[in-house]
Amino acid sequence: MSHFRFCRLTECSVIIAENRLRKPDMITVVSDKSEDDLKHCPFEYGNESLSGNEIFAIREKESVKNGMGWKTRVVPNLYHALSVEEIKENRRVGFFEQQNGLGAHEVIIETPHHHISMNQYKTEEFENYIKTIIARIDDLEKDKRLEYIQVFKNCGKYAGASMLHPHSQIIATPFIPKDIKKRLEIQKAYFEKHGRSLVGDLVDEEIRLNERIIYENGTFFAFAPYASCFPFEVLIAPKLPLAKITELSIYQINDLALVLEFVFKRLYRELGDFPFNMLFFNMPPVSVQNDPDFFYRMEEYYRFTLHITPRIYQLAGFELSTGMYINPISPELAAMRLREEK
Ligand SMILES: [Zn+2]
Repeated sequence: MSHFRFCRLTECSVIIAENRLRKPDMITVVSDKSEDDLKHCPFEYGNESLSGNEIFAIREKESVKNGMGWKTRVVPNLYHALSVEEIKENRRVGFFEQQNGLGAHEVIIETPHHHISMNQYKTEEFENYIKTIIARIDDLEKDKRLEYIQVFKNCGKYAGASMLHPHSQIIATPFIPKDIKKRLEIQKAYFEKHGRSLVGDLVDEEIRLNERIIYENGTFFAFAPYASCFPFEVLIAPKLPLAKITELSIYQINDLALVLEFVFKRLYRELGDFPFNMLFFNMPPVSVQNDPDFFYRMEEYYRFTLHITPRIYQLAGFELSTGMYINPISPELAAMRLREEK
């Protein structure tokens, strides 16, 4: 029996339709990573000059900027969608409106190893990955023209990745994108009505129900969200009031690394080499908004979250036209399989 579920964080709806699983091509996880040429990969040791001037790196002692010996490395996206060189300017084009492509577009090279997947990362590699993200957000927030910073990872062709070498991206925009604004407004309205954090209440309720929990430690909690839009979707949220990933202490960075390590090992165990997106939802930098009250007390109620959305079920016309998803695997079943010791 199918049914609709409604997401408290986005107000989107999803159809949980387990009978769709009988359709033979519905869930077939095949590796979509094609072999590519190591020698010409710009993210390899020795090819640093192919990927542009280094913006940030975690390096071995003694190693030098733009040389080998790095553990993570951030470079400009050579095919960038936005550029910090632009000025912030709006203009009318008759009936229409446009704005200069001001922003930032960077690539995080997560590791020097071309053929490694996140299930093979050691705790320290996840820690370096998180520290790199924190360093870049801290730095981009200094540019007051940028009002939103999105960190994301596309892994696999079906998830939009054009390169095999493990990498993530950062795009910063000169205004808060519509869907993000909506998320913020939902959390703001919830706080104004109940005096509590929406994500905080969501986490408490998941702990109380104990049906969709996958993993928890001192700081973080991973679960399959009640209205999961994607099969095996995982949401990672802090148990404490942390609005930004940049607020994490060294111990909390270790806790986040441990959640990621656990979740990716289990996802790969269940799904094989699967395409996915990973999305970081962070509180935006406080900036000059049209409405000065918009950020009022936001650090009290906003909590940063991290979403992992496996892309084993392809989006099609219905999803694109309605913004409503069909998920053939219930989050309860997904959580049970991910939790299970085998
Ligand atoms: Zn490579």
